[in-house]
Amino acid sequence: MGKCKDITRLLSDALERKLGMREWLAVGAHLPTCSGCRNFRKHIGLLRAASRAMSGLDDIDDPETRGR
Ligand SMILES: [Zn+2]
Repeated sequence: MGKCKDITRLLSDALERKLGMREWLAVGAHLPTCSGCRNFRKHIGLLRAASRAMSGLDDIDDPETRGR
């Protein structure tokens, strides 16, 4: 596959900036197929953001970020 490097980089980027829709789609397409990247995501604590990617929504109404 060879995409894992890109995906893990995007996942770490997501902690610091907002990913674009295309980036989330790449992540969302890759994660279900790759346990290694799912582990990485779990590691950095991006569970919420990644489930956002799965649903294809960039600006979900999130109680934790609302009012920031
Ligand atoms: Zn991977």
